[in-house]
Amino acid sequence: MNKKRIVILGSTGSVGRQTLEVIAQYPEKFSVEVITGWNNTALLAEQARAFLPKTVVTGDKKNYQELKDALKDLPVKVLAGTEALNEVVSGEVDLVMAAIVGFAGLMPVLTALEHGVPVALANKETLVVAGDIVMETAKRKNVSVIPVDSEHSAIFQCLQGENGGIEKIILTASGGPFIGKKTNFLVNVKRDHALQHPNWHMGEKITIDSATLMNKGLEMIEARWLFNLKPEQIEVVIHPQSVIHSVVQFVDGSLKAQMGLPDMKVPIQYALTHPGRLKNDFPRFSFKNYPKLTFDRPDIKTFRNLALAMEALQKGGNLPCIMNAANEEVVHAFLKNKIGFLEMTEIIEEAMNSCQRIEKPTLADYQQSDQSARELAQKLIAQKSN
Ligand code: NAD
Ligand code: MG
Repeated sequence: MNKKRIVILGSTGSVGRQTLEVIAQYPEKFSVEVITGWNNTALLAEQARAFLPKTVVTGDKKNYQELKDALKDLPVKVLAGTEALNEVVSGEVDLVMAAIVGFAGLMPVLTALEHGVPVALANKETLVVAGDIVMETAKRKNVSVIPVDSEHSAIFQCLQGENGGIEKIILTASGGPFIGKKTNFLVNVKRDHALQHPNWHMGEKITIDSATLMNKGLEMIEARWLFNLKPEQIEVVIHPQSVIHSVVQFVDGSLKAQMGLPDMKVPIQYALTHPGRLKNDFPRFSFKNYPKLTFDRPDIKTFRNLALAMEALQKGGNLPCIMNAANEEVVHAFLKNKIGFLEMTEIIEEAMNSCQRIEKPTLADYQQSDQSARELAQKLIAQKSN
């Protein structure tokens, strides 16, 4: 049998590293053709040594020489720059694992789809920014976008063998480290505390998004595009144990949920093996260890990022793109201790209110909206950090 040839965009990140761990279990099933990173050159080189891909890319050109030197004894091609990311997804490959974080992941995903290459999508920002264009491209090219995000993988798995008939979906949310807290607490929260997620170990950006509940907002928009739903068909429930990964409610009132331990390697593996499954030896879930599963409503008055994302989902157009750009900037600033936890929300809100709205944006409009929202957010960050 031919091996599935995989490109991993963002192999040095949390999802990227776990993708390599999954692939390492099945050397006879998968071959890693390309890996890409940004500034962790030592890890990228180490991964190249272990998996011997044909090509290794550093997105950041200034790391090119260091990477080239580190790999000079290996038969691998070394490329640099964002154009190279587009080049490597359009070659002779079978699946692209899109695990870059943020807007930067959009173009390589679109390029892969344009070239008829299926995408396993971890990079939710891609769909938040330009979900209409991404899904239209996938449809036109008749190529699949397979969700990697655990909630969306859950929905996707629940929908296998079904033929429509979705009434609504219920996305579960852990609630993050500040579940139950109120504004008077959140106002003093600092980065190190916000980076301590109770159930998942992830990259810094998504960990902050989980603490503000923006992550769940991004996921509502992601789900809207992946499963072609109306905003009112998407609900969020807080489920702190994170073992029910999400639920589909069908038109006959039946509910289907997908469960498991909170381990990203499971949805990653499913995205790689879909429509089949492969046996692994990951730890198994046991009801004995979870005698109590609990559910609650999200507190969108306190965690206003989720309310903002719901507004963006409702209004559509370029508003989710504006919100995403402002969010990427404020999370970055929060991680650098430039602004406070609640100031992130204030800046996102102001960007959403001030940036020019476009109802049916083109790709160029999305790029422009991303740029202007970032500029505005940076200005507001500078004002607040003075
Ligand atoms: P991460 O920060 O750990 O890794 C990001 C990767 O992207 C790294 O390899 C980095 O080198 C690369 N990268 C960063 N900026 C880049 C740029 N401008 N150009 C090219 N490459 C760049 O992030 P992560 O936690 O692995 O998340 C990746 C994506 O998957 C995000 O969109 C996140 O929302 C989504 N996701 C992550 C998890 C998780 O458990 N980590 C779960 C669900 C969804
Ligand atoms: Mg998720």
